[in-house]
Amino acid sequence: MNLIFIGPQGSGKGTQAKIISEKLNLCHISTGDLLRNVKGNLKEEVDSYINVGKLVPDELILKILIKELKKCKKGFILDGFPRNVTQAQKLKDLIDINKVIEINITDKQAIKRITSRISCKNCGAVFNKITNPPKIEGVCDSCKGKLYVRDDDKEEFVKKRLKIYHNETEPILGIYDSVRIDGFQEIDKVAQEILEKL
Ligand SMILES: [Zn+2]
Repeated sequence: MNLIFIGPQGSGKGTQAKIISEKLNLCHISTGDLLRNVKGNLKEEVDSYINVGKLVPDELILKILIKELKKCKKGFILDGFPRNVTQAQKLKDLIDINKVIEINITDKQAIKRITSRISCKNCGAVFNKITNPPKIEGVCDSCKGKLYVRDDDKEEFVKKRLKIYHNETEPILGIYDSVRIDGFQEIDKVAQEILEKL
């Protein structure tokens, strides 16, 4: 079974991709991790873009991706690619996808979840004021470092990314057989609903 998971920031898409891939014995391919861990000649090629702050071209991502996907005998979950309709079309020409799963939360829910994140300046640990507060306010549980809200997690940035998601990523749902799952539930409940819809 070959699946694509999409969802706005804060939807828990990555967590669900991990849970479902383990349950169904599928490869979990996070494009971000894949590009960071690529080896050999391809690494040099990827770095030549990343090091100068350029986007890695679709063709190069696909080349790396297809190589990796061929190792997945039982199928895979793609997490982080495709991000837009152009990429989805290119992927469609190369490999069959059974379903796209969208983990859906509203913009309001996404903003609430992300802006309540607090990170440790020292060790990078992430807490959440609502769902996972530190034992002492403003202080990291593991290293006693100072907790702060990253620029990335501030409302204006979250809104910008949500807009890009709606404009560019969401239309992928129209290209493939798709199902939308309510991501604003307990983690187990979301996973169960995904399994029922497959
Ligand atoms: Zn810390």
